[in-house]
Amino acid sequence: MLDSESLNNVLEDKMISSQDAAEIFQKAKSNPSELFLTAQKLRSRFKGNTVTFSKKAFFNIINMCRDTCTYCTYKAEPGEEKLSMMSKEQIKQMLKLSKKYRCVEALFVTGERPEQKYQEARDWLKENGFKSTAEYLAFASELALDEGLFPHTNAGNLTFEEMRELKKTNVSMGLMLENSSERLTEKGMPHYLAASKRPEQRLEALENAGKLKIPMTTGILIGIGETPEEVIESLFAIKDLHEKYGNIQEVILQNFQPKPDTLMKDFPSAAENYFKIIVALSRVIMPEMNIQIPPNLSPKSYQSFLSVGINDWGGISPLTPDYVNPEFSWPEIKKIDENSKKAGFDLKCRFPIYPEFFSFISKELREKMALIEDKEGMVREEYWR
Ligand code: SF4
Repeated sequence: MLDSESLNNVLEDKMISSQDAAEIFQKAKSNPSELFLTAQKLRSRFKGNTVTFSKKAFFNIINMCRDTCTYCTYKAEPGEEKLSMMSKEQIKQMLKLSKKYRCVEALFVTGERPEQKYQEARDWLKENGFKSTAEYLAFASELALDEGLFPHTNAGNLTFEEMRELKKTNVSMGLMLENSSERLTEKGMPHYLAASKRPEQRLEALENAGKLKIPMTTGILIGIGETPEEVIESLFAIKDLHEKYGNIQEVILQNFQPKPDTLMKDFPSAAENYFKIIVALSRVIMPEMNIQIPPNLSPKSYQSFLSVGINDWGGISPLTPDYVNPEFSWPEIKKIDENSKKAGFDLKCRFPIYPEFFSFISKELREKMALIEDKEGMVREEYWR
């Protein structure tokens, strides 16, 4: 039998400690039903029966990266077939196409500061008239707004100044914490050759986003060799950031899936039950947070996560692949809608910024959103269906 005291405390709006969370995790391993039920109740209390997603196009701006994470298939070396370096013209064309597909979000993704390592990246920037990837992203974001799309940039650890600049055009930004464990940066571990994934660097970038009041999407990657305690510490690190700055708009829980061309190709996928316990535990640790799992990474069972605490499917593209997980295509939005309905939930299209954070962005950005926004701060149905 589970010790229900901590779970009852959460239902009575009391906070739990990381030690309580560790105990809940241990007990849930043999019987997760009480944890799942608590997560479900909290989800209903704070999020009703709505599940959201963002209709996006994924702009793979440049996928060279100065770091190497051993699970990553996104990163490309010069000369590789998957290398992407979008020109201004390609960005413009893709924006037009995205609009045709009725996308709302322009997700701009790059590797970590590619120009620091690669001459090819420096040449690409020069050809397009920019000194840094961040400068190029600011330009691309303006193009997106002109086309009626809303930018959300995820370009690794940007500096305070770079984020301040991007805040003018981006309604929100993304930076995965991945995990706050130093151990995962040691020799033989996934983040050993990824200086930007060192927890103090990631947390500093997230702190800077907090100081700048940028609505941030962050999250953790589950199943990369971490311990449950390290997951719990990471969740509490995110919770602490949010308590300090109030700007964490959502937490992505991403289950590891091995990629054939990486050093971790033989590592097992995150076990579903373990993943579900972490999802439910996240809801219990942060009852009011927007919690997301990517449905393409659990293609057969994603709808079952609605009963363990999630309230968002993240960005779904009808147009572009998920370049981070290219072997997992996104389910059709129609199918997600059907499956959400079957599970008792209404699917709504949100902006890349959640309504709770609208006051964080400029009047100019809000005015652009207002053109397609409904009374609840979601995208009006006729603009995305
Ligand atoms: S996960 Fe990000 S930081 Fe790590 S290698 Fe891939 S692109 Fe670079």
